[in-house]
Amino acid sequence: MWDSIDGDEFLDEVVLVDQSPIGRTPRSNPVTYIKAFDIIRELFASLPEAQKRGFPAGHFSFNVPGGRCENCQGDGTVTVEMQFLADVELICDECKGTRYKPQVLEIRYKGKNIHEVLDLTIREALKFFADVPRLTEKLRVLDEVGLGYLRLGQSATTLSGGEAQRMKLAAHLQPGARPGSRHTEGGDAPKRKRRLLYIFDEPTTGLHFDDVSKLLSAFRRLIDAGGSIVVIEHNLEVIKTADWVIDLGPEGGDRGGNLVGFGPPEAIAELKNSYTGQYLKRVLDGNGVTTVSGRIEPIS
Ligand SMILES: [Zn+2]
Repeated sequence: MWDSIDGDEFLDEVVLVDQSPIGRTPRSNPVTYIKAFDIIRELFASLPEAQKRGFPAGHFSFNVPGGRCENCQGDGTVTVEMQFLADVELICDECKGTRYKPQVLEIRYKGKNIHEVLDLTIREALKFFADVPRLTEKLRVLDEVGLGYLRLGQSATTLSGGEAQRMKLAAHLQPGARPGSRHTEGGDAPKRKRRLLYIFDEPTTGLHFDDVSKLLSAFRRLIDAGGSIVVIEHNLEVIKTADWVIDLGPEGGDRGGNLVGFGPPEAIAELKNSYTGQYLKRVLDGNGVTTVSGRIEPIS
């Protein structure tokens, strides 16, 4: 419930970066989502062997007829309807799950065909495509938000909520998609940064401890590009970096939801009735470390 909003004249747009899926079909994956698959397809189509056989970039797509396996229509699996039982997904016996026709799989870039390339992790692909900077600059952003372990062609349906949220974050950090460069005023007017307000719902969920710092530097880039960020979060490593904390509690669930206090992290740390404050004080004083689960353990 709210009565009024103040200050919205300072914002151009509000972007919710939540944990809902980025795609509900196996046809969307990390490289299609960040629009890097176009570059990979063009790269394959430019190879001498592909040119000789007259394979255009579309031949390296599993979404349109041409180079894809038509038995499974590029899914790599076929659904078998079972009477009285749930449908069963089976590996396509025509392409053996590779999604492409054999002629297409014969085209190789540095020894790998399109199926093997889609099987690379993002981190492996950064090395493999080191001499294709327009591709690696897109892929690098995925590694920077802690998703370097995903495979390029990993189906979007297998991503967790936390992974889906970081994919969306990565899309906002893409070169050319940055809020500051997305909007230009006409004529000779100087470029004005787009003022976007991003709302994140528990972005550290499922994130490895080492990757929290990657997430925080990604936040820094959104802010540098003119954005503001509201984060719903329990992780103290995130809370302590905030400019302003709104502490809701005192507990979780039914026993929470009340305003306990607000202010910079240092002020919250002094609140006697705040659980967050008690733990935050230990972190800020250097007397506690955050464990992988985001809980505080005293240093003994
Ligand atoms: Zn097939």
